[in-house]
Amino acid sequence: MPSARRSLAWDTRQVRTRKARRCLPGSPANCIPIFRLRFTARRGALWVRHAPVQPIASVRRVWVIEPRVSEPSLAPDAGKDAVLLLSGGIDSAALASLVRPAWALVVDYGQRPAVAEVRAARAIAGHLGIRIAQLTVDLASVGSGLLLRESPPDSSADEDGSGRTFANVPSPSPEWWPLRNQLLCTLAAAWALGRTSKDGAPLRQVLTATVQSDGARHVDGTLAFYDALDCVTRMQEGGIAVRAPAIHLSAVELVTVSGADEGLLGWTHSCHRSESPCAACPGCWKREQVLMDLKMLSH
Ligand SMILES: [Zn+2]
Repeated sequence: MPSARRSLAWDTRQVRTRKARRCLPGSPANCIPIFRLRFTARRGALWVRHAPVQPIASVRRVWVIEPRVSEPSLAPDAGKDAVLLLSGGIDSAALASLVRPAWALVVDYGQRPAVAEVRAARAIAGHLGIRIAQLTVDLASVGSGLLLRESPPDSSADEDGSGRTFANVPSPSPEWWPLRNQLLCTLAAAWALGRTSKDGAPLRQVLTATVQSDGARHVDGTLAFYDALDCVTRMQEGGIAVRAPAIHLSAVELVTVSGADEGLLGWTHSCHRSESPCAACPGCWKREQVLMDLKMLSH
C-alpha cells in the first residue's frame, strides 16, 4: 500500500506542525487525530488515544518503508556492508567467494549436523579471509524433519501434551523445518544491529545463499518470501535489508559465476542428518549432483 505509506508520512508532518492537533466534533474524549489516511478520508479520521501514542518520530520510523536503495547484486563488492548466513554448504560457500561479505555468520540452531556445519563454515571463512561469528540458539523445540531426527514420530503421538501431533504438522519436504529461513534471517538481522565492517561501515544487509531450486521445495525459498521478509525487516530499527542475490541462479550457475574451486568446495558440508555425509539425504544428493555437473566429481 504505497499510497497509504506516503499519506502517513505526509500527515505525520502535519501532526508535527500541530496543524492537525485538535479534537473534531463527535470524537472520543481525550483523543487527537494522529493521522488521517488519504484513502480513508471519506470515512473520516482515525483516532488514537493520547496515552498509548508513541512519539511522532517513532511512529514515522516504524511505519514508513523506504524504497529499496539498490537491487540485490552479485558484484564483487556487494557484501561490503553485509553479513552472510554461511551454513557451510556449496551455495553459501560460492556466494561468500563471490560477494566477500564483511561478516559470515554460522548458526547452531539445534540441527543434527551443527558441528559439521560450523566446522565447514569456519574453514570456508578462513580460506576466503572473511571474519566469522557463531550464534548458538536452540530452536529444536520448534523443529522438524531430517535436520532434527531420523524418522518422524508416530503420527498421532502428542509428545509434549500440547495437542500437537505429527499428523497436524505440514511437511512439504523431508528436511523442512518450520519457518527456518525466517528465523535465521531474523537472528542475523538482530546480530547485525550496531556491528560494522572492518572499515567501520554499519552492516545494512543480511545475505542468504538461496538458489532457484530451493523455491520448489519450500515457500521460504521463493522470491516472494524474501521480498516480504525484506520489507518487514527493513521497516524495523536499523533498516536491515534481507536479500537472496542468487535466487535467480541454479547452484551450478552460482558456483560457476563465483569461480569457487575444489580447494574451497572441498570444505563444504551439506548432509542433513549427520556430521559425515550419509549419501542418502536431499542435502547429500544435491551436493553430489552439483559437483558432478561441475565435473568436480565422477561416479
Ligand atoms: Zn546426508
